[in-house]
Amino acid sequence: MRAKALETLLVGKGLVDPAAVDALVDTFSNDIGPQNGARVVARSWCDPDYRARLLADATSAIAELGYSGMQGEHMVAVENSDDVHNVVVCTLCSCYPWPVLGLPPVWYKSPEYRARVVREPRAVIAEFGLELADDVEVRVWDSTAEIRYLVVPQRPAGTDALDEAGLADLVTRDSMIGTGLALSPEAD
Ligand code: FE
Repeated sequence: MRAKALETLLVGKGLVDPAAVDALVDTFSNDIGPQNGARVVARSWCDPDYRARLLADATSAIAELGYSGMQGEHMVAVENSDDVHNVVVCTLCSCYPWPVLGLPPVWYKSPEYRARVVREPRAVIAEFGLELADDVEVRVWDSTAEIRYLVVPQRPAGTDALDEAGLADLVTRDSMIGTGLALSPEAD
């Protein structure tokens, strides 16, 4: 409602072209989304050199695949392992890596998620259907005004025969936020 009211006001004052707003919304609805991040993750699973570049300088490594721009200027990739599970939040508002994940889901912006995932990450993650083992360390990354995080989920077992495109199909949006895992090939 607030966004609509703002847009009406800005268009009315001649400060914004409604066609430009439509084009932007269309781009973020159709061209930019988790499929971009999924390609980044799948590449890192297949190419050890790319993985190293991604972990060292995610902004550049992501730009190699053609993804850059607003809300992706300072990217950091955090990789899950058998011992560590990463999850991302913006406690202040709703900062989110648009070039690789598109627009944030409603729950990511909710006050409940933003407050609770910091205090009780295991419980929140469990509510998404992911029960983490007690010996897995959970790291919560709070997005800042500058930095946006991308979780690199673990490559699922039984995927040796899959090519990069097949692997990318297993990488969900939630697995790159940390509220889920990559899909198993049999569950796909
Ligand atoms: Fe924010």
